[in-house]
Amino acid sequence: WVPQAPNVWFRPLLLNTVTGGWCNLLRVRKSGMISRHRHPGLVVGYVIKGSWRYLEHPWIAEAGHFLYEPPGEIHTLVVDQGVEEMITFFNIAGAMIYLDEQGVQNGYEDVFTKIEMCRAHYRAVGLGDYVDSFIR
Ligand code: FE
Repeated sequence: WVPQAPNVWFRPLLLNTVTGGWCNLLRVRKSGMISRHRHPGLVVGYVIKGSWRYLEHPWIAEAGHFLYEPPGEIHTLVVDQGVEEMITFFNIAGAMIYLDEQGVQNGYEDVFTKIEMCRAHYRAVGLGDYVDSFIR
């Protein structure tokens, strides 16, 4: 599990430098807003544990649900009080563009920044270049 933010981690499964996409598990162990973001590409996911929602939608993603995020959509992931842990599989076709409340970009992630984050973390904890086993 690679730390993403306090009480937020991701676990890489596939870091695809051919298509620019990646698959990971996202794990959150706190309630509150995680990030407002936009994807230029398609995202699909499957909730394994817990639940969460997007501020912009009425539905709640619960364990066993499959979800689809259309390209270009802006949304804000929220984990509600009472959820001790959520784990969700995501397949992200393109980049994550993070936005502040005014809609101004304040962060960016793609498969290459994910690889760098994983490599730095795995080296720091003594796993060396373990990230290479997820890169295609
Ligand atoms: Fe999203």
